[in-house]
Amino acid sequence: MEDTIASIATATGLGGIAVIRISGKGARDVLSRVFRPRRTSCRLVPRRLTYGEVYDGEERLDECMAVFLPAPHTYTTEDVAEIQCHGGSVTAQSVLRAALRAGARLAEPGEFTKRAFLGGRIDLAQAESVMDLISARTERAAKASLRQMDGYLSRRVQALQDKLLDTVAYIEATLDYPDEDIEPLTARRAIEEAEGVRDALAEALRNARAGQMLQNGVRIVLIGSPNTGKSSLLNALLREQRAIVTDIAGTTRDVLREDLDLFGLPVRLSDTAGLRETEDAVERIGVDRARAEMRGADVVLLVLDGARQLTEEERALLRETEAPLVVALNKADLPPQTDEAQARAVLPAGARLLRTSARTGEGVEALRRALYETALRGAAPEEAYLTSERHVQAVREALAALESALQALRTLTLDCAALDLRAAWEALGAITGATATEDVIDRIFARFCLGK
Ligand code: GDP
Repeated sequence: MEDTIASIATATGLGGIAVIRISGKGARDVLSRVFRPRRTSCRLVPRRLTYGEVYDGEERLDECMAVFLPAPHTYTTEDVAEIQCHGGSVTAQSVLRAALRAGARLAEPGEFTKRAFLGGRIDLAQAESVMDLISARTERAAKASLRQMDGYLSRRVQALQDKLLDTVAYIEATLDYPDEDIEPLTARRAIEEAEGVRDALAEALRNARAGQMLQNGVRIVLIGSPNTGKSSLLNALLREQRAIVTDIAGTTRDVLREDLDLFGLPVRLSDTAGLRETEDAVERIGVDRARAEMRGADVVLLVLDGARQLTEEERALLRETEAPLVVALNKADLPPQTDEAQARAVLPAGARLLRTSARTGEGVEALRRALYETALRGAAPEEAYLTSERHVQAVREALAALESALQALRTLTLDCAALDLRAAWEALGAITGATATEDVIDRIFARFCLGK
């Protein structure tokens, strides 16, 4: 961590201003080599934004503002310098090059935040939330990331860890002063505590799906025979005209993807080619793609034409679907030919069936609601605080250790119980990074964008 790193912190492309960030022991030196205040009387005062120019040697690169922030109250906890120059694709790059020539090295993705973590300013869960916030696709997802950045997840985990450690402490006290009358009392109290932690973790796991969906999004795949109204329904869900609607069967040949904010859940909706056996080579590829899409779906939305009888292909489709299913009996504005009971009879257990009309909008809001509920499968987004697979794994590990501890407590093998409780404590510690391995830490920061 001795070297000084630099990177462009703002996104590439046209923009008014770009920020070049420099962090490390040499930040001040690097800045003073490339930046000259406009008025020579104007010296760089810490934490004061100063107007001046950036130079690469004697070549003037840009007019800019610059600031020097001394350690430790900075993003990285190190000395930090920032240069605000003009945006676009050329200037920011040349300012960065000048900073590199002046002694900095190019930062790796996530390296600034990694330094904040290694410097002890934030824990691992907070560091993860930085990237989650940057990549949030709905306001609700952004709010959840901000809450994690403020330490919400870390505090929840810490509170459970403290309970485990307290329990270990009084088990160990009993072990130090063995007394057969006290052991059952200690075990009973420890069981109560461990069960409390276990229940809290189990609840967190149940809601984790919602947390992960907020961050990673939900994949909903639209399937159905040609001309049932998939594209029209997609448009109704998007409240915009995006997909091409025609009445020539088989026009949606490729897979069309659209982003949708479903009550705060970021959704990637794919409209697939009509799933019917076909001789047409192009359409054939589309059908294969649709099948592949279906395999990775969180929810499959099957669109049936309510003004037609169910076809054999549609019955086959119903059997083929593995993901949770929502069925829209579309064209509800026309005289019904498929009656609901008939459609319901061939649906897999748990599938939702709704009447919709893409034309009049009838049932579309209810369809939105059904898709939302089906995706979450009972998980509550407002209760969700585990937001990544990494957290889920850590909690699963802790739960396994807790079950083992409970078993040991019930048979009064207190020494084993203490070991298992410690193992559960350690598993949870991986979330905040207290017990995370270097490998895990590297993997987390590697998914960061440059400049953060
Ligand atoms: P896709 O092939 O399944 O994507 O179907 P489209 O969305 O292209 O629709 C096929 C035809 O059905 C078009 O002529 C649409 O206008 C019509 N259509 C779609 N939804 C409805 C609906 O709810 N009611 C009625 N009456 N017609 C619809």
